[in-house]
Amino acid sequence: MYVRLIAAVLVSVISTYAHAVDEDWNTNASDPLDWSSAGSKKPLGHGVLETRSTTTCGPSANNAVCASNLCCGPNGVCGTGSYYCAAPSCLFQYGPACDANQTPTGVNTTSVPRPKLGSTQYGVSIRDCGIPGKVALTFDDGPYIYTSALLDILKEKGVKATFFLVGNNGGKGQINDPKTGYPALIQRMYNEGHQVGSHTWSHADLSTLTRQQRYDQVVKNEIALTDILGFFPTYLRPPYESCNADCLNDLKDLGYHVANYDIDTLDWQGDYTRSQSIFSSNLKSASPSARGFISLAHDIHDKTVHIFAAYMIDTLLAAGYTTALYGECMNDPPANWYRNSTTGEPYTGASHNTSTASNAKSVSVSSNSTTTSITHSSTTATPSAVVGGEGAFGSRTGNATVSGTNGTASGTNGTATKSQATSGMGLKSSETAGTFFGMGLTWAILSWLFWI
Ligand SMILES: [Zn+2]
Repeated sequence: MYVRLIAAVLVSVISTYAHAVDEDWNTNASDPLDWSSAGSKKPLGHGVLETRSTTTCGPSANNAVCASNLCCGPNGVCGTGSYYCAAPSCLFQYGPACDANQTPTGVNTTSVPRPKLGSTQYGVSIRDCGIPGKVALTFDDGPYIYTSALLDILKEKGVKATFFLVGNNGGKGQINDPKTGYPALIQRMYNEGHQVGSHTWSHADLSTLTRQQRYDQVVKNEIALTDILGFFPTYLRPPYESCNADCLNDLKDLGYHVANYDIDTLDWQGDYTRSQSIFSSNLKSASPSARGFISLAHDIHDKTVHIFAAYMIDTLLAAGYTTALYGECMNDPPANWYRNSTTGEPYTGASHNTSTASNAKSVSVSSNSTTTSITHSSTTATPSAVVGGEGAFGSRTGNATVSGTNGTASGTNGTATKSQATSGMGLKSSETAGTFFGMGLTWAILSWLFWI
């Protein structure tokens, strides 16, 4: 019996090792979105089964494009699963099935007029809060599973913040897909007086894209946000703070202010002692009567939400500052923070109460030339359907089609048209190995039970 038990355990260990050497078994799910800064585009880990093909793709493979049902992973290999498919790591130009190539459902906003609104600058990178004594707390990369808790904390503290939302990253699904729980969460965010900005559709480095790809990154996110809110923002923060001259021009044409920051807390690096030091030393470097600040943190990190957010609020108040929304720092009227998704004019339903958290309010939403009055409830929208469910975050609701948003949108994604890698799929099935592992484990347990 002991021999069989030992053999079974050995089989299990070998199977597990096979996963490791395949590089396909991502078990580090402790921080699945740990990519959120320049130079930190780490592979994602969701504990999701992955499969890899024998075909290669991307710049390291002569710009080869994967088959239509496959993604091009950051390792330059075609495959499926979060590691290969999830934005922003997936090389979407070479992997038709990459998340980034999905198009959200909703009214196409491509042809919405984009007049310049207000006096806030376009075509430049904005970093400074123009109002002395104000600190705009901004959070990037959400929504995610901690965002609901952050809204609770902000509400408790009576503080409003600005969120730059990504449409489809980290394998979390499309933000306007009700199954994710995010539409209600984003609605709550807005209802409670926080400013909603765009952080692109899939957290791509805008400076590396073609004009069409940049437009896709912007328009797809506004389609999703319009689907949720009925209007879309005029403030956008470029991922990795990256926006070259062409990008600045394109964002100007699309009617977006490039909303950067002047305090980078580096919270994503996980050294919160240093983040606290960065934040407090910046505030102390000036007098509240002399200047304001715009800080950057990320609500996709547990400690940022549960520890650092309260620290920032308490510290800024103790230093004599108060909080402001990004648009307030610009002295921009709230109507200009969002665009009517039909006329392109300021969204006149916008009403941000910055002194108290409102639980619910009615707003007018103009959609398709028909104005309807809807009530936004502030029901807590923790995406419980997906919290803790890695499968949900790894879900693929779209398909590999990259062309065309709705209606008249050209909206194609990716201009890479090199020949498709057509060699045999040769998928190494991690599932097979996983099953093997499970069988070995079962065998071990049964052997043990029989022995007893
Ligand atoms: Zn980001």
